[in-house]
Amino acid sequence: MTLLSLDRLKTALAGNDSDGAPEKAAPQNPATLYECASCGTVYIAEEKQSCSECEASVRAVPNEHDLGLDLGR
Ligand SMILES: [Zn+2]
Repeated sequence: MTLLSLDRLKTALAGNDSDGAPEKAAPQNPATLYECASCGTVYIAEEKQSCSECEASVRAVPNEHDLGLDLGR
């Protein structure tokens, strides 16, 4: 009764060990910060060429990772 249940439980636990679905780390978000040099509006986009507000050209803003800073600690 109890012994049988324990045995089944052990078997189930042992069988579960390699049964987990592989978890992959979430891919880095490819979005980049863009800042309009004219009006200062900041956009987050994968690709942006011109400001939606004033149509001036925007420039990519390097984030802390690109700058090599370690702000995550
Ligand atoms: Zn602008």
